[in-house]
Amino acid sequence: MRPAVQRPLRGAEKRGIVVKKGEFTKIRHYLGKTQSQMAQLLGTSVKAVQSFEQGWRRIPAHVERQSLFLLAHRIPHNNKHGRCWTIQGCPTATKKNCPAWEFKLGELCWFINGTICRGEMQSTWQKKMKMCRKCRVFQSMFPVLYD
Ligand code: SF4
Repeated sequence: MRPAVQRPLRGAEKRGIVVKKGEFTKIRHYLGKTQSQMAQLLGTSVKAVQSFEQGWRRIPAHVERQSLFLLAHRIPHNNKHGRCWTIQGCPTATKKNCPAWEFKLGELCWFINGTICRGEMQSTWQKKMKMCRKCRVFQSMFPVLYD
């Protein structure tokens, strides 16, 4: 049987994408992994990894999250890296309702849903990531993505 022909992403499909195809490859290269090794780490197929890199398939939220998580733990960080609530100057009332504070994940705030950034919770991972990518906390965590 012939494999299904994949088509480039269009309109609505594209709207959910936060990781750009070049960025996914950049992350894999930074991690020093082959496509096969990356597939294993992400719990997906080599074909899926190839599709992500070629832009044929939407990169799901869990793949983006896992990729960034691995990257965050590969990039050497110095101790100057601050907690999000300090960098953002969050008031006590906000911190009390924010899971980043509750779980003391001030450097992994971008990883968890339900954080209260700029006074409001983002309803989806895509909306959250869109905001995180413009945030100093995220940018200082992933300088390699902004080279
Ligand atoms: S916008 Fe994202 S990176 Fe910035 S503090 Fe909030 S969760 Fe963290």
